[in-house]
Amino acid sequence: MYLELPMTTAATRELQRRLGADIVRTDAASLDAAAYDSSKIPFRPEAVIKPRRETQIGVVLALANRHRVPVTVRGRGTTLTGAAAPVRGGWVIDMLRLNRIRIDDEAGMAHVQAGAKVGPIHRAAEAAGWFYPPDPSSKEYCTIGGNIACNAGGMHGGKYGVTRDFIIALRGFLPTGELVEWGTATKKFAAGFNLRDLWIGSEGMLGVVTGAVLKLIPLPPARWTLLTAFRDETAAFEAARALFRLRVQPAICEFLDRDSVRCAESATGRPVFAGQKNRAVILLELAGTSSEVRELRAIVVGWAKQHAVAHRAARTRDEAEQLWAVRRKCSGAMFELGDAKLNEDITIPMRSYGAFAQFLAGLKRSSGLAIPTFGHLGDGNLHVNIMYHRASRAESRAAEVAVDRLMRKVVKLGGAISGEHGIGLAKSPFLRIQHSPAQVKAMQAVKAALDPKGILNPGKMFDVFHVWKHPKLTVKLPWDHK
Ligand SMILES: Cc1cc2nc3c(=O)[nH]c(=O)nc-3n(C[C@H](O)[C@H](O)[C@H](O)COP(=O)(O)OP(=O)(O)OC[C@H]3O[C@@H](n4cnc5c(N)ncnc54)[C@H](O)[C@@H]3O)c2cc1C
Repeated sequence: MYLELPMTTAATRELQRRLGADIVRTDAASLDAAAYDSSKIPFRPEAVIKPRRETQIGVVLALANRHRVPVTVRGRGTTLTGAAAPVRGGWVIDMLRLNRIRIDDEAGMAHVQAGAKVGPIHRAAEAAGWFYPPDPSSKEYCTIGGNIACNAGGMHGGKYGVTRDFIIALRGFLPTGELVEWGTATKKFAAGFNLRDLWIGSEGMLGVVTGAVLKLIPLPPARWTLLTAFRDETAAFEAARALFRLRVQPAICEFLDRDSVRCAESATGRPVFAGQKNRAVILLELAGTSSEVRELRAIVVGWAKQHAVAHRAARTRDEAEQLWAVRRKCSGAMFELGDAKLNEDITIPMRSYGAFAQFLAGLKRSSGLAIPTFGHLGDGNLHVNIMYHRASRAESRAAEVAVDRLMRKVVKLGGAISGEHGIGLAKSPFLRIQHSPAQVKAMQAVKAALDPKGILNPGKMFDVFHVWKHPKLTVKLPWDHK
């Protein structure tokens, strides 16, 4: 099943001598656990390194350069793109032991190690009255290092921004093994090139992040949740645009098309909106001080009366939580429409919402596939899920054609082939649809400058890899029900 066969080389034995067998693991269980991420395409590494101290990472990288060993950094392996899979074998650095979190209450900053999970960072901030808005749905599992490497987003993106908008400073290792710091724990830093931002979103190819200083904002004391139903997807998209024209920025503005609503309903056994059948929905949350929320609420109710066929506000936090549970259920429930999913996370500009709704309806018709779509209307980041049955050649081919058409259309509409998941292996066939040859060449030049021996996360982004042509593991991961 594995696409690479491991063997213990002299370099691995030397590393084990230097760092010890507790840090450098070569047992089958450790290798299997690091062989794949959420893309489930397996590549077995030769060793898994579980550093307890930052300096051990420098040792690993220096030796990897000397012996030209491929190195893949791993947070929790939740990426859906194959970015954390050790496609060329070699060594995996597992960051989970480096997981300290400290809140600077006065400055409104969090000092975190890269292996800290995002859920605990949220809770530590909130316990001190602060808020760290980036909130990927995988937050209880994924690490802040992985979020930085992928520039992760989430439901709060439209109002607050994504991981990049909350990074004050980074610390870590160049691929060649030197320790570097990009920025300090100050909100202003204008000294030299901004390589901090170069690392954010570089998918573990330009450096190993070991620590970060995160910006926190005051925790909004009041929230209000509203569920709205629309005749169809076009009506929902147009209504969202009308809301933003009113200068209302909901903290969350989640859209579910009619197919996603049906999936959520079959997963929960309950209608998403009692009395409303076959509707697209938008789930909104306002956040701020009580008076801000009160003021905006009046505007939003007026908007809902004008644009939605029905609307219902949550009366309590529990009721609001029930509404959010519906949104969380729809993704896992899609597997009743097919046993394979091409999970795209495109972003389209607001002005193209109408054109995209029409395109999507056409894509569903012409492909003959179920393509439930949901996502974040505040920032145009939509999760387009192309469902098919792996055993059916016709469906597999239709999915391949559909994803290619989708990517080309998104770029034509002025959008992005990925809004938050990144490129990894899964989106590598489409990189050159988004980027011109000059742009790709510039990115490759940066990579070659920082990683002259090409040891860090090789085989990703620039090398075309067709995920749908490769066997996948059938393992169930702890977050698969999400
Ligand atoms: C159920 C589910 C829901 C999800 N929801 C969202 C969502 O709402 N928003 C979103 O943006 N993403 C989402 N994701 C995708 C994924 O969780 C994110 O991309 C996350 O940032 C990955 O973090 P990780 O710790 O698992 O990193 P990994 O998967 O281990 O690694 C991802 C990439 O980051 C690199 N990397 C990891 N740690 C470091 C480090 N310390 N230094 C340098 N490079 C590093 C790896 O080499 C790899 O290229 C979801 C995934 C799942 C399975």
